[in-house]
Amino acid sequence: MKAVVLFSGGLDSTLALKIIQEWFVDAFPLYVNHRFLSLKKQPDVPKLKVIDATGDFIDIIRSPQHGYGKNLNPCIDCRIIMLKKAKEYMKKKKADFIVTGEVLDQRPMSQHFDQLMMIERTAEVEGLVVRPLSGKLLPPTIPEKEGLISRELMLEIKGRSRRIALNLAQQMKIAEYTSPSGGCLLTDPGFCHRLADLMRYSEKIEERDVDLLKIGRHFRLDGETKLIVGRHEEENKTIEKLMNAKDIMLFVPDTGSPNALLIGNKKALKTAASITARYSDKKNEPSVTVHYKHKKTEKTLKCSPMTNDEIARLRL
Ligand code: SF4
Repeated sequence: MKAVVLFSGGLDSTLALKIIQEWFVDAFPLYVNHRFLSLKKQPDVPKLKVIDATGDFIDIIRSPQHGYGKNLNPCIDCRIIMLKKAKEYMKKKKADFIVTGEVLDQRPMSQHFDQLMMIERTAEVEGLVVRPLSGKLLPPTIPEKEGLISRELMLEIKGRSRRIALNLAQQMKIAEYTSPSGGCLLTDPGFCHRLADLMRYSEKIEERDVDLLKIGRHFRLDGETKLIVGRHEEENKTIEKLMNAKDIMLFVPDTGSPNALLIGNKKALKTAASITARYSDKKNEPSVTVHYKHKKTEKTLKCSPMTNDEIARLRL
């Protein structure tokens, strides 16, 4: 008997995986990654399959069919995408069912009874999703009806309290799991503010745009133009890596300086230089020479660092 386990590395999916392994199910953990996750380290369990669903997220993020949660988190559409991916993998592995760590009523948007059932139906996996943590509280699944697994082995955890799951983890000697939020940036108000700005001004969102949203200070200079200023060495390197042929990169030479990426209208170069100078170690000097690189050319311009009031007006 085989099952695909939607595995995030969090407590609930780790428990679900362990539980079905105790039932002697041959488990195939599947991690659906997307660029809106802030986790730097992917979970690490034997046989883990990782797939990237960023493209699917970009397609739905502007107008998710089932709306947003508190921020720009399209949790219902996200769960549908995940189950669809699990279904594809289930077919590939010739598995009998899908397992998730979902707990009834744990999350406000996607884990109430009706939503769980609707998500299952929409992903076309009705009756094939086994939820060991709440299974006794949910309708019998196909593998239960076919006698592949016993309903008696299911648990009846419900609600937001983590107490039972934590006790269970202790009993099962599970010590490693990631935080419950899983680091989804679509629940982060600051990130969502920048994403909303991007959606307002860009018709098409690229994967690079999402990577850039995760780093630096962001400034909206006009409808077509943005400046992203690195906050530390690592972000400066990332900015250099993500720069493309249309962009201009600015920095103040021979001093502590961010790399700043100008994307869009070149007419905003002077403003961009002034912001770059403001975040360099020469911010208190009346006039600063800023270098800027575009394709293979490198030039300089002089400007005065931007004032805090002006900065506040442009910053996202
Ligand atoms: S919080 Fe993010 S990753 Fe989690 S279900 Fe919602 S959209 Fe998906």
